[in-house]
Amino acid sequence: MPAIVIAGAGPAGLRTASLLAMEGWQVDVIEEHSEVGIPENCSGLLSVSGLNELGIDAESCTVNRIYGAEIFSANGTKLTVERQEPVALVVKRSEFDKMLFKEAVKNGANIEFNSKLIDVRRQHIFFQRKARGEAKKARVVVGADGVLSKAREIAGIQIDKKYFVQSYQERVSGTFDKTKVQVYFGSFAKGLFAWIIPESEGIARAGIATSLGINAREAFEEFKHKYSFEFETIERQSFMIPLGPPVEEPVKDNILLVGDAAFHVKATTGGGIIFGLNAAQKCAEAITKHLKHGSKLSEYKNLLKPINRELKIHWRIRSYLNSLSDDKLDKLFLKLKKAGIEEFLTEHGDMDRPSMFIGKLLKKPRFWSLLPLIFRLR
Ligand SMILES: Cc1cc2nc3c(=O)[nH]c(=O)nc-3n(C[C@H](O)[C@H](O)[C@H](O)COP(=O)(O)OP(=O)(O)OC[C@H]3O[C@@H](n4cnc5c(N)ncnc54)[C@H](O)[C@@H]3O)c2cc1C
Repeated sequence: MPAIVIAGAGPAGLRTASLLAMEGWQVDVIEEHSEVGIPENCSGLLSVSGLNELGIDAESCTVNRIYGAEIFSANGTKLTVERQEPVALVVKRSEFDKMLFKEAVKNGANIEFNSKLIDVRRQHIFFQRKARGEAKKARVVVGADGVLSKAREIAGIQIDKKYFVQSYQERVSGTFDKTKVQVYFGSFAKGLFAWIIPESEGIARAGIATSLGINAREAFEEFKHKYSFEFETIERQSFMIPLGPPVEEPVKDNILLVGDAAFHVKATTGGGIIFGLNAAQKCAEAITKHLKHGSKLSEYKNLLKPINRELKIHWRIRSYLNSLSDDKLDKLFLKLKKAGIEEFLTEHGDMDRPSMFIGKLLKKPRFWSLLPLIFRLR
């Protein structure tokens, strides 16, 4: 019988499949869509450091290089962070996923399209293929089926809806600084923020994400109006993003959750690809140890500890930002600016690992007026 069945051929599922197949295990991936990477619901911003650590060369799907960011508070106070070297790549997400797909297939994984996970009963998986119910056996099941994970539901994990935001994004034409992303905070984007991620000087991905219950598309119109943006819409998309702490128990019996399904997502930004790929490595490691040496699958939880430590800091920062009114956020931005946060982040900032620079903040006397906040976030 196949050793492992993975539900979901997104980055987390494909990476897990690739690594396990490379170890020689028989891996089947079931994917509900007929193609990898479609529909494309992403801004495709990936840190250079994160990709390098993973050993992933995303050159073939890169459309732009980002050197920094402009971050705006509700009243327009701007923090600018800028490096000499690219800090992030803007990738065409469907191409990125296809690259991971080819790698997984090359390593020996088997991908079955139009196959939707329905249920797991011990070592039996039930799925729907072209309106027909089918079943297969698996010793281990990986739930890499994204934000609204069926595997998570089957594992009995309930997530409160306050831990999701609704995004709305348009691919637009206009005039953009192609070297920087822009991030806009304020009550018009309650729950996250609005963004502009340039593909070039003429095209960008502009979007917003808001708490559930708020109409994200209307919020996007409010954002455009507030800043008098006049974009030409090329494409539009809307999708949910998990925004909360990582799932505490990512293993239930023989089911392991990875990626968005397990909230392996930076709650500061909603970005989940780098963390999902890192978690996939831990997931593959835990499964290999289990199948080879009989160790418990729950070892996965231990392997995830360093990843979850960072994700929890992202979540504390997000919770703090969400608690601030526009006025308080403005005051915080001014205070940070005055203390020299722009120069500090230019030198020490890390898109993925806040623990790296929060520790360094403590060593700079000019930030000691922010000590209560720093200790709260650590
Ligand atoms: C608007 C927007 C912008 C974003 N921008 C960024 C960004 O710039 N950078 C970043 O890092 N992240 C970004 N993200 C988040 C990123 O897209 C996710 O974190 C990432 O896709 C998660 O990967 P995954 O493999 O866990 O899940 P997914 O990519 O969601 O893959 C899950 C797969 O499972 C399949 N599936 C679902 N249910 C079933 C089922 N029952 N049976 C079989 N298959 C199933 C789906 O079809 C899908 O292919 C963004 C998200 C949104 C919505």
